[in-house]
Amino acid sequence: MAKRVAVVSGSNKGIGLEVVRSLCRHFDGDVFLTARDASRGQQALLKLQEEQLKPLFHQLDIDDLESIRELRAFMLQKYEGIDVLVNNAGIAFKNADTTPFGTQAEVTMATNFFATRDMCTELLTIIKPHGRVVNVSSLMSKVALLKCSPELQNKFRSPTLTEDELVELMRKFVDDAKNEVHPKQGWPSTAYGVSKIGVTVLSMIHARRLSKERAADKILLNACCPGWVKTDMAGPNAPGTVEEGAVTPVYLALLPEGAEGPHGELVSKKTVQEW
Ligand code: NDP
Repeated sequence: MAKRVAVVSGSNKGIGLEVVRSLCRHFDGDVFLTARDASRGQQALLKLQEEQLKPLFHQLDIDDLESIRELRAFMLQKYEGIDVLVNNAGIAFKNADTTPFGTQAEVTMATNFFATRDMCTELLTIIKPHGRVVNVSSLMSKVALLKCSPELQNKFRSPTLTEDELVELMRKFVDDAKNEVHPKQGWPSTAYGVSKIGVTVLSMIHARRLSKERAADKILLNACCPGWVKTDMAGPNAPGTVEEGAVTPVYLALLPEGAEGPHGELVSKKTVQEW
């Protein structure tokens, strides 16, 4: 049987790096630190090696389909699939950024939602039985949901919403933002928050699909919020530490074999959140 393997996107720094550090200590198998920029990835790898940890490295830019496909081919060939996938890579414009809102919406959605979806499209099919998938979303997705119109809230909470319908909604948000009609169309003025609604709801849709199509494989897939923690994204005034930020993603990544859940949930502080 092939060796077990865990992969963490966007793990050259921040929460992703801390998740790799923790998985190196607690996961029984190889752990891949990945980065879009190979030299930043190698530097992070060195840092962990100095701590006597032994992560491996693979380049991965989630915005680049070819890069995702190369990772997929490598994982299939070397490990016959993936046991643990943590979709952590994400971006956020700073509050003070003066880039027009429509552009912020397009750029944020491209990475946080569409590229994360590409990761799932390419890699969910090679998740091994008893695999664990963790999509790093945010409680900002819930905050943004509550600011959506009642019609949009109903759609995002619907247990029958399809992936195609979700994709259409995310595209519509970007179009509405570019046309400066997003408030009139029922959207909140947070590109990051709406992109994370996409990640949370996509996770629910994919979990339902796994339960239906691969029930016997007992794969558990969840979205999570790491908490508001000090990283380059959140800044130095965030209350939590990066170690605290890794706790919930790692908990979900290491749910023991035989666990029945959580599955298809938004999890924060190891606790399922109401959506
Ligand atoms: P950082 O900005 O510190 O790290 C983000 C990581 O994602 C970096 O390694 C970055 O790489 C990588 N990344 C960005 N775009 C891509 C891409 N296209 N392909 C591959 N990697 C990419 O952020 P955090 O560690 O704070 O955030 C990690 C996750 O946690 C994100 O999804 C974020 O939304 C979420 N989150 C964070 C919170 C917080 O308080 N920090 C709160 C709630 C959620 P590079 O160095 O090359 O830019």
